Amino acid sequence: MPTETTYSILGAARSGLAVAALLRREGARVFVSDSKPADANPTAIPRLRAMGAGYEFGGHTKAVLQSSVLILSPGVPDTIPIVRQAAEQGIRITNEIEIAASRCRAPIIAITGTNGKTTTTELTGFILRNSGLNTFVAGNVGLPFSEIALQADEQSVVVLELSSFQLEHIQAFRPRVAMILNVTPDHLDRYPNFEAYVRAKFRITMNQTPADTLIYNADDHNLSALPASSVARAIGFSLTQALPDGAFVRNGQVILRANGEQELMNTNDIRIRGPHNLYNAMAAALAAQSVGVGLDAIREGLKNFPGVPHRLEPVRQLDGVRYINDSKATNVDSVWYALQSFAEPIVLIAGGKGKQNDYTPILPLIRKHVKAVVLIGDEAPAMEAAFAGYAPTVRAGHSMELAVEQARSLAVPGDVILLSPACASFDMFNNYEHRGESFKTLVNQLIPASEAVN
Ligand code: ADP
Repeated sequence: MPTETTYSILGAARSGLAVAALLRREGARVFVSDSKPADANPTAIPRLRAMGAGYEFGGHTKAVLQSSVLILSPGVPDTIPIVRQAAEQGIRITNEIEIAASRCRAPIIAITGTNGKTTTTELTGFILRNSGLNTFVAGNVGLPFSEIALQADEQSVVVLELSSFQLEHIQAFRPRVAMILNVTPDHLDRYPNFEAYVRAKFRITMNQTPADTLIYNADDHNLSALPASSVARAIGFSLTQALPDGAFVRNGQVILRANGEQELMNTNDIRIRGPHNLYNAMAAALAAQSVGVGLDAIREGLKNFPGVPHRLEPVRQLDGVRYINDSKATNVDSVWYALQSFAEPIVLIAGGKGKQNDYTPILPLIRKHVKAVVLIGDEAPAMEAAFAGYAPTVRAGHSMELAVEQARSLAVPGDVILLSPACASFDMFNNYEHRGESFKTLVNQLIPASEAVN
């Protein structure tokens, strides 16, 4: 008699609860274990009770090892003792993406990269939806794949944002279209070295077949070994070379060369701005084309997609100064692109919780584009030292309010005030959204100089 498959899930956050619900719907035995105390997530227990799953909070006990499959949440490292013990006992270790994908009949466009995932995932979803396709956008963007896996049928398309953590424990996951936007150093607190991080990203294509498509950034030297390591049809996108197969820019026009050459549109007609967004736009166009979307629908999508909040988001124009919220720029590479995205002089608000950042790559841009840096958070001393000689710095302690005030006093009409922190937010805020909302609220409360009464 075959033994019944039973599941333990480590992590009772959104994706853990969603995969528990999916498996309970199949009638499987499910046990959820979270290292945090139950009061850290007060809605979890009522939900687990309602679905009929077993659970424990405040630590992982041996009860986890009673199942035949162990599902790891993205935040759970596979080096913790309970996971090692499970591996030693021969328990199959996997993750939520693998489980949801194995139950999903729709083709999947899976998107990863160090930066640009959310923008490109939402943009691809926007193009597909506008073309009339029944489209689901899920994964790292916030909606767990498990919540929509059963609703998406053969006629639908699922656009999935995947972090490298979500790629670590996939086994048979096979996206119809896989995309790697770029790979630059990040999360080195979680990986032994940069190569291990790159390897995790490459896993996105490991189960693809020659009938599938792999879309990659042909300008990123960290991805140069990628096409040869995959059997999928590899198509690149580039801002520096006319590719035989893929997307590139010639005389201000985006050219698609997939089945013959087609002129897509003028780069100025793409609503999201900056060179990084041109990469994201080309990647999304190729993905849409790979699932059969026509050029007109792609053009319309790129013309109208407004961008995602907290990514170079315009907040306000006040007294001739533009205020931009780029709170999602939590690493040095995304700040590098932010600094390239404006012709105007920039007053930069940066800092927060550092990640052992190396600021060398952005120093020339700081010198060229930034007239002053207002520093916030724990990382201020390190940034002050790094930027010395490149731009004047002032400190605003742990106060966004003071930072906005100081930035305003340093800016003149024609300048841009840019919040692009290069750091995590946890020293001052709950998350990057909270940081961005705080910045936007403060900026929207500023009174125009003409209305100020002394
Ligand atoms: P992710 O989901 O990978 O974190 P986002 O779309 O949320 O990516 O963007 C994160 C940050 O990176 C933002 O500051 C954004 O302006 C910047 N960014 C977006 N696309 C790219 C890209 N292709 N290359 C580098 N930086 C990018």
